[in-house]
Amino acid sequence: MGRSTCDGCGRPVSIAGGIANLWTFGDRDGSDGSAMTLEFEDGSSHLLCYPCIEALPENPTAADLEEL
Ligand SMILES: [Zn+2]
Repeated sequence: MGRSTCDGCGRPVSIAGGIANLWTFGDRDGSDGSAMTLEFEDGSSHLLCYPCIEALPENPTAADLEEL
């Protein structure tokens, strides 16, 4: 747990903890943080807020982050 900033938009976020991936995303109740760390196809991981996660395409890459 902790506070950091979104890698996509730079806004301060709270972290739910753990590594999630896009395919299990969708059941959140909004009570446990406003961001998750995602592992990308290229092996990098990025902390992203939910709006940014939802804006990313499937199989996101670092290049997609640049467009957020
Ligand atoms: Zn964001």
